Formats: sequence, structure tokens, C-alpha cells
Amino acid sequence: MKKTVLITGASRGIGRTTAVLFARQNYNVIINYNSSEFEAKKLEEDLIKQGLTAIAIKADVSTRDEVELMFDNAVKVFGDIHILVNNAGIASQKLFTDVKDSEWNRIFDVNIKGVFNCSQLALKDMIKNHYGKIINISSIWGLTGASCEVAYSATKAAVIGFTKALAKEVGPCNINVNAVAPGVIDTKMNRNLAPEVMNGLKEQTPLGVIGTCEDIAQTILFLASDNAKFITGQVISPNGGIVI
Ligand code: NAP
Repeated sequence: MKKTVLITGASRGIGRTTAVLFARQNYNVIINYNSSEFEAKKLEEDLIKQGLTAIAIKADVSTRDEVELMFDNAVKVFGDIHILVNNAGIASQKLFTDVKDSEWNRIFDVNIKGVFNCSQLALKDMIKNHYGKIINISSIWGLTGASCEVAYSATKAAVIGFTKALAKEVGPCNINVNAVAPGVIDTKMNRNLAPEVMNGLKEQTPLGVIGTCEDIAQTILFLASDNAKFITGQVISPNGGIVI
């Protein structure tokens, strides 16, 4: 049976590459986006042209009503969702003392409330079917903390706590919940970092390279596969050795 995966924040970066990889592996793919409609629709079109199955659906993951509507529409098109990849995320760099209340709330709303919203809705069918995989994208900064990214690091640490607790709760329903904590990856999220900062991060990485979206997508694909059926509640960190 063809399985269905919903990937949040799949209009670009890690989410997009993950959507392409799953589509090529014969999954039905739901490409979630919030503001990048053109990119998401173009990806949908490109995958369909290749004979693959995908649909782009808008929802701000932090907004419950929009997430509910996305799941309703997704189920109408593909039926039950088997795999959820909670990838949508935002980041910002500034001194902790300069972080505004609204900025703190927004990053928590997207990076962790979004994971709550999507997981709760996906679990309805997963529990009914006694099958499911939830893969949450955390970060090395959720493991180690990053200076000038206190809010981001806190959300990504929360994703790890969420993953471990939910894995215990839904394991008896044959649902695996894992986190992926990428190292430094070449995406738009890091484009505002100065070249010397990126070079510094590269130098601190034992493998001597910045990671690619494909590195992370392959890890996600593995966790979604039956080869990973005994893995749950874990944090897998493809990071080139920057955190060991
Ligand atoms: P990116 O290129 O900035 O892409 C972020 C994606 O999230 C976009 O598709 C964006 O879509 C979507 N998004 C943002 N807010 C959203 C919302 N409210 N609702 C739905 N979608 C939303 O970032 P990335 O580097 O690929 O990051 C993907 C994930 O990996 C994030 O969780 C990030 O924290 C994590 N991560 C990244 C790195 C790295 O070095 N890049 C390292 C560790 C972890 P729209 O434009 O349509 O809103």
C-alpha cells in the first residue's frame, strides 16, 4: 500500500528536499507551506509532471484552525496520513536581552506549538490504524544551546522533550516518535549569517563541511522506514561531528 507523508515547511530547504525524496520513493506527499505559495505549488507541479503524487496545502502550523483544515483536505485527497514530519521552523539571532515578548511568543508558536498542533491531528488516524511515524526536526542548538539564539535553542530543546514523552505515550499504539537534530545545513535559514561565521562553523566540524538538505532528508527517510521500526524516542543528529 502506498503510504502518505505530510511534511510541514516543505516549500524550501530541508522540507523541500525531504518532499522530493519521499515522492521519488513512491509516497503520497503533502507539501505544507505558509507564505511561499509559488515555491510550494511549483514543487507540486514538478513532482506531478514526473508522475509522482503530491499536493501543496497552505497552513500556518501555529494556527489550530488552519492545521485542522489542512488535515481535512489532505485526508480527502490521500486518505489517512501514515507519516508526519514536523519540519516547519523559524530562527533569529539576537542578544537575549533584546528579544521582544512578541518575538519570543512567535518562535514558540511556530517551532513547538506547531509540533503540538500537527502531531495531535495526525495521531487520530495513527492511533486508529495502530501505525504511524512522527519525525520532529530539532537542532544541535537544542542539544547544546547557541549564544544569541536562546529562544530558538529553547524551542528545539522543547522538541526533544516532546519527542521523548510522546514516544513513551504512543509506543503501545505502534507509533514511533523520533527527533532529528541537524548540524549546520546550507539553507535560507542560515543565509543571514556572515561568511566568516559559516566558515568558523565549518572549521569546527570534524568532517570539514557544511551539511546538505539531502543529508537530513535521508535520515528522515530512514526513520520513516520499517528498517527503523525498533527506534523510538531517540534524537539522531546528522552534524558532521560538530556535536559528539
Ligand atoms: P528554511 O529554508 O528557512 O525553511 C523553513 C520552512 O518552514 C519553509 O518552507 C517555510 O515555509 C516553513 N515555515 C516557516 N514558518 C511556518 C509556519 N508558521 N507554518 C508553516 N510553515 C512554515 O529552513 P530550513 O533550514 O530548511 O529548516 C527546516 C527545519 O530544520 C527547521 O525546523 C529548522 O529549525 C531546522 N534546522 C535547520 C538547520 C539549518 O542549519 N538550516 C539546523 C538545524 C535544524 P514558508 O516560507 O511557506 O512559510
